Amino acid sequence: MGKWLILLETSSAKIEDGNWGKLLANGVTGWRFPSVSQGGHVKNATVLIVEDDLTLAAAVAGVLADAGFVTTRATDGQQALQAFFSLRPDIVLLDLGLPLLDGQIVIERLRDLSPATPIVVLSARAELSERVRALQGGADDFIFKPFSNEELVARLWARLRNT
Ligand code: CA
Repeated sequence: MGKWLILLETSSAKIEDGNWGKLLANGVTGWRFPSVSQGGHVKNATVLIVEDDLTLAAAVAGVLADAGFVTTRATDGQQALQAFFSLRPDIVLLDLGLPLLDGQIVIERLRDLSPATPIVVLSARAELSERVRALQGGADDFIFKPFSNEELVARLWARLRNT
C-alpha cells in the first residue's frame, strides 16, 4: 500500500519538479488538491466566508487562501445571500451573529437556494440549542470559536470530499 498525501496547494504549477521526485522517493504514490469536480471539470474550491468581524475574516481568508482555496467574503447576512447567489461557492463558512440577518436565518435561506452546498458554521455561540437549530436548519458542521487553523482547513476539506 502506497502513501497518499493531500497537498493543499492551489495548483500543481506551484510545486517544483524536483519536489515531486522527493515525494515519490519517500513512498508517496498519489496526491490530490483541494479541488472539486463540477460537470466533469475540476476547479479549485471556492469558499464564501461570512463574518462581520473584519479582522477575523481577513485572518480566516489568509489561512484558507494559503490552503489553496479561492476565498470571497461577506460581512452581513444579506450580503451573504447576494454573494451566494452571484458566486455559487463550493462551500460556505458562516458566522451566526451577523448584522441585518442572523446566521440561523441565513442557513435556512441558503438551503432554499441550494440543497447541496455544504455550510460550516463558525461561531462563539456554544449553547446546545444554537447548535441543534443550525444543524436542523441545514448546516453540515459546527466549529466553535476560538478554533485551530488546521482543524478549520481539515473540516472544510472533509465536507468538500463528500460532495
Ligand atoms: Ca459575528
